[in-house]
Amino acid sequence: MGRNIDNKCKQCRRIGEKLFLKGERCLGPKCAMVKRNYGPGVHGQKGRKRLSDFGTQLAEKQKAKKYYGLAEKQFRLTFEKAAKKQGDAGKNFLRLLESRLDNVVFRLGFAASRAQARQLVNHGHFTVNDRKTDIASFSVKLGQVIKIRKSSQNSPYFRNVNDRLAKAERPSWLDFNATDKAGKILHEPKDLDLPQSINVQMIIEYYSK
Ligand code: SF4
Repeated sequence: MGRNIDNKCKQCRRIGEKLFLKGERCLGPKCAMVKRNYGPGVHGQKGRKRLSDFGTQLAEKQKAKKYYGLAEKQFRLTFEKAAKKQGDAGKNFLRLLESRLDNVVFRLGFAASRAQARQLVNHGHFTVNDRKTDIASFSVKLGQVIKIRKSSQNSPYFRNVNDRLAKAERPSWLDFNATDKAGKILHEPKDLDLPQSINVQMIIEYYSK
């Protein structure tokens, strides 16, 4: 996957919304959207341009892509997979994105951001149903158990992860067993569990052209 090397805070400032790409910093006063809530660059303070319908749809698609940290190809493939499923394509799309292993690892509280969760998964630190799984896009199914791999449990990162796990605010569709440090999906995310800041209808319109 092509790595997005654009400064994370500039991505938020360009879009005009918090994308929560930097973990704890995003929740505090040091967040660039708190300190400089205008576009980056010398013209940033002149205000954001009015966009055409197409521009608005494109911006919404870009926003969601950055929120989940995906490259265009992967994002689009996920959309096409969702469109083939029965039911509401937009909600199916967000549910597929939410069920990615990197996102579940992040939501369970093992990482401060999706980018960090992806790195931890890619480095083989997790198992799904006791099998090492190092594919960030792996789609977690209901009931599959995600744990820290035995050989990783004594690494400096995981020795110090307890604080983060204790403070994590998990969505109701995930279950977490603090003793075993194991998590699983209890049920599909309900409508209100899906990110409310993403207007998925605009993304559908963008890809329908
Ligand atoms: Fe975005 Fe603020 Fe996080 Fe920077 S700190 S990535 S501006 S939410």
